[in-house]
Amino acid sequence: MLETFVRVEREAGANPAALHRPGRHAQALLEQARDEVASLLHCDSREVVFCGSATEANNLGVLGAARAIARLEGRPPRLISSRAEHPAVLSPLRLLQQEGFPLRTLPLDRHARIEAEALAEALAEDEDPVLLALQWANNETGAIQPLPERVPGRVHFHCDAVQGIGKLPWDPRLATAAGLVLSGHKIGAPKGIAVLRLAEDRPFDPVIAGGGHQRGVRPGTEAPALAAAFAHALRLALAEQEAFAAETAAAAGALLEELRGFFGSDPSGFQENQPPLGQGLPNTLNLSFPGIDGRALLPACDAEGLAVASGSACSSGSSQPSPVLLASGMDANLARASLRISFGRPAGAAVGTEAGRRLVRVLARLYKSANR
Ligand code: PLP
Repeated sequence: MLETFVRVEREAGANPAALHRPGRHAQALLEQARDEVASLLHCDSREVVFCGSATEANNLGVLGAARAIARLEGRPPRLISSRAEHPAVLSPLRLLQQEGFPLRTLPLDRHARIEAEALAEALAEDEDPVLLALQWANNETGAIQPLPERVPGRVHFHCDAVQGIGKLPWDPRLATAAGLVLSGHKIGAPKGIAVLRLAEDRPFDPVIAGGGHQRGVRPGTEAPALAAAFAHALRLALAEQEAFAAETAAAAGALLEELRGFFGSDPSGFQENQPPLGQGLPNTLNLSFPGIDGRALLPACDAEGLAVASGSACSSGSSQPSPVLLASGMDANLARASLRISFGRPAGAAVGTEAGRRLVRVLARLYKSANR
């Protein structure tokens, strides 16, 4: 990916909006990347909007669509979402709520999954316009959400697919989303590039004012080298999804084996919050350790060389328990004593076993000091 970035940046360093020959060359490479992303996402090239991050893409997709619907309908659409959404989606929804848009967040089960029936019931309520913002998979527990099979025309479906792409087999229900968001750094592209796939026939009010780049959805100079690296990363992530799932699931399983070995006959020693095997993201574990001081857990893991988190990366560093775990019914102390472990490649059983052994060393130390 880095090679693709460097090659295109060297070859086409000009501004793709410039009319001179180097500019036109940069533009050609940018559009080549856009075409490739469009064919991988089964959409028209004009629907591919390159952004700087999935946070930006989600903000544009949610705010731009909701405000346009409100303007055209003369009343704000009902906002329907879940309490499992990433702050990149929940925060713009809350902004809209402050502007007077009614917001309903659907409750979660203990794995952070919403009920398909609750979603169907919320969508069926009346004939009002609706903006549905629902993630494909959850970043903290790995729960896969029940995406709608069909959405009525009065529903604008915005899907944050950041965590599912390259980890789960492509889901044809993603085609029902008018707005679909992917993040480059989750699939091996450099940081600083993401995509909003935005259906052309849907209303959109600009959120950022500027030149007319990218249909006015995301004005600002585009980065052909980042776009090319994104296209390359997406092609590989989709082609290697099965291998990713197999390798990371083996690692996750091996880590759990180590923990079971440590806790032995005490099944209440730790709690698994991710969905049962095969029903969530293959690479994601979410584990709680009753009796452990949550504040000590992350630094102790870090000292053992374990790069794990206790909530979404954006909010880690704060001692607040994960809002997603709280919304899944967990008490604050246990939520603080919880870890989100996600494996990337290269993975496999040996990687999981090694990570499990390190985690066991951490836990043994923390339990010992707790009993002192
Ligand atoms: N949505 C989900 C589900 C995520 O996990 C993340 C990042 O972790 C984001 C959105 C935000 O992505 P970005 O870091 O590209 O802004």
